[in-house]
Amino acid sequence: MASIKEQFHRLHPREYANFTYAYPVLSRRSGGVSLGVNLNLDKFCNFDCPYCQVDRTTPGREQKLDLPRIREEVEALLQSVDSGGVCRLAIFDAVPDSDKKLRDVALSGDGEPTMVPEFPDVCALLHEIQAGHPALDFKLVLITNATLLDRPKVRAGVEALLALRGEVWAKLDAGTEDWFQRVNVSRVSLDRIESNLIELGRSSPFKVQSFFGRMKGAEGSGARQGWDAAEVEAYLQRLTRIRDSGARILEVQLYTLARPPSDAHVTAVDKTFLENMRARIEALDIPARVYGGD
Ligand code: SF4
Repeated sequence: MASIKEQFHRLHPREYANFTYAYPVLSRRSGGVSLGVNLNLDKFCNFDCPYCQVDRTTPGREQKLDLPRIREEVEALLQSVDSGGVCRLAIFDAVPDSDKKLRDVALSGDGEPTMVPEFPDVCALLHEIQAGHPALDFKLVLITNATLLDRPKVRAGVEALLALRGEVWAKLDAGTEDWFQRVNVSRVSLDRIESNLIELGRSSPFKVQSFFGRMKGAEGSGARQGWDAAEVEAYLQRLTRIRDSGARILEVQLYTLARPPSDAHVTAVDKTFLENMRARIEALDIPARVYGGD
């Protein structure tokens, strides 16, 4: 039977009480409690990943960010953290103290957070909140698909997020443009994402998040179904180029499907595949870790 921690890891509700933006989760990748901030109420994203777990069958809400409300909600959740850094929210009552320490406040929502015009203002606000709680040891995290990291306003926001303690966790799901367009579906090219990651990593070490899955349903079309040897090589070459261009990769987080995706043609890879990929990445001298995959 799954432990209480594992049961929480499988859930990722973006709703909490009567809050609009902020939500607490027990996060495997954070190693404790992460306070998420969802900036994409309208569920807009400039990717259309078939493995996306955002429910777009129901329409999003009106996208007009209320910064004072974001502050109020994040501050209210921070009030539940005791002097030992343990989050005392009632929803985590059954979780042992050692597993529910506050780790981060993360911009992670129902779409791409850097698309939101108020992104730099939200980053400045979170920086201010973090600076106002010197006794609490938590990071600010941006979870992004990296498409817009070359925009000056987005860069300014990222700088504010990283000013005290922060990290960017950026998506890299493919080695070839062909697989990238199947698994992420975007007008932005994979080469541009690579160059954005190089620029970011030259000034700020970051984590890479890579989704591994397979796509059924295009048999005979010539389209890639999944991670064949050429795709794996191209992906490893991209990681190598990013690292050799002077960018520091703190860790590659490898994962596969954990919950039902938006497109039923997407299936998970097995744990052995993920572990083999981890070993190949570590052989490049880049830290890597598998999250999920049974
Ligand atoms: S980038 Fe994230 S939010 Fe956007 S479609 Fe892909 S998985 Fe969904």
